[in-house]
Amino acid sequence: MTLDADGLAFDREHLWHPYSSMTVPGPVYPVISASGVRLRLQRGDHETDVIDAMSSWWCAIHGYAVPELDTAVRDQLGRMSHVMFGGLTHEPAVELGRRLVDLAPGTGLEKVFFADSGSVSVEVAMKMAWQAHAGSGLGRTKFFTIRGGYHGDTFSPMSVTDPDGGMHSLYAGFLPEHVFADRPPAAGEPLETWKATTTALFEQHADEIAAVILEPVLQGAGGMHVYDPDVVRHLTALARRHGALVIFDEIATGFWRTGAAWAADHCATSEGPCTPDILCVGKALTGGYLTLAAVLTTAEVAAAVDASPAGAMMHGPTFMANPLACAVAIANLDLLASYDAATRISEVHTALTNGLAPAAGFSSVLDVRTLGAVGVVELDCPVDVPAVTEAALARGVWVRPFRNLVYTMPPYVSTEEDLRTITAAIVGAVEEVHG
Ligand SMILES: *Cc1c(COP(=O)(O)O)cnc(C)c1O
Repeated sequence: MTLDADGLAFDREHLWHPYSSMTVPGPVYPVISASGVRLRLQRGDHETDVIDAMSSWWCAIHGYAVPELDTAVRDQLGRMSHVMFGGLTHEPAVELGRRLVDLAPGTGLEKVFFADSGSVSVEVAMKMAWQAHAGSGLGRTKFFTIRGGYHGDTFSPMSVTDPDGGMHSLYAGFLPEHVFADRPPAAGEPLETWKATTTALFEQHADEIAAVILEPVLQGAGGMHVYDPDVVRHLTALARRHGALVIFDEIATGFWRTGAAWAADHCATSEGPCTPDILCVGKALTGGYLTLAAVLTTAEVAAAVDASPAGAMMHGPTFMANPLACAVAIANLDLLASYDAATRISEVHTALTNGLAPAAGFSSVLDVRTLGAVGVVELDCPVDVPAVTEAALARGVWVRPFRNLVYTMPPYVSTEEDLRTITAAIVGAVEEVHG
């Protein structure tokens, strides 16, 4: 459906968009429909198809109007779209729970809490860790994390998101204060100094730390920062040594985005896997069809939660385990299992690496990096977002840069030609706007 001038005016005057001003709204582009990897945009009086290089904020890994996913939603719609999860259960929740327990990194992540968004799953993970310690009578109430992270926009996730990026100063006095180690060095840089400082900081607070929380290997919305798996192993070991739990937020990195099924898989060594006590998944879980996230944990943590004064996990969203969302997530995981994801992501990786390489020579570009199906061009200044967006659209591609980053997380089903179009658009747009 197209929007007329009235519709667009209503949007401007009445609808908030993410991180937007109501008084000085930025430009928004109406989408008429979407299929394959393309969005059909309404541009003035004509329509134009552009490739979605963002996978709708990293969710739509199989693109749009995917026959298998459409069918799963329709079939479930014919049975029931929603029922409460308090005192009731249903096959889509049970089946998705089974799949997640099966797919989770390592062994032992076998208890599943369905949440309705990534931020809520992080809330739940933090509550779990808090309650688990309350049960042991230790009452640990702080979280330990690294600067540069992003864990969501509600207050608890925001409290462990980067203090500057998460604008903690705006909410001073309200936001709980947690312990932040420096952002780990970029992959390939020496780690020794960072490790020593971080260990000392942890030891200073060891008695109060309920859990370490981090995005393994790739910090997403906090700045697309790629760091050494050894950092993850180091923090995990520190936590375990001091009786703290470990939370991996794989909402962005899960389901093959970084080139392995989980970012945690990059952290395994010959001595074994590196796995958390609590895992958050979301974003790509439903292939971008519906909002759903999940928290997985171990039997030990679940038992500790139950030993807390409340005697149970104290959270229960209205739309917990929504059947439509569970059904489409199952179909999405089926799709993901129907091809060789490792090979596919490595092909995407090669295309992004080769395609973005020319940007490294531009005077405005500080760094070009890729990991799995993620490609990032980092500028030496804030991106002129409206100009770069327009320049990329003119080249047939939708991107949504932030801060000093122009990046892509394309759908896994992008063809070689789609990927060439995406990288050429990013390189061309950066060169045209920033030089
Ligand atoms: C997107 C994201 C979240 C928040 O998920 P929402 O569904 O937007 O609430 C949390 N953690 C990470 C790592 C994310 O990328």
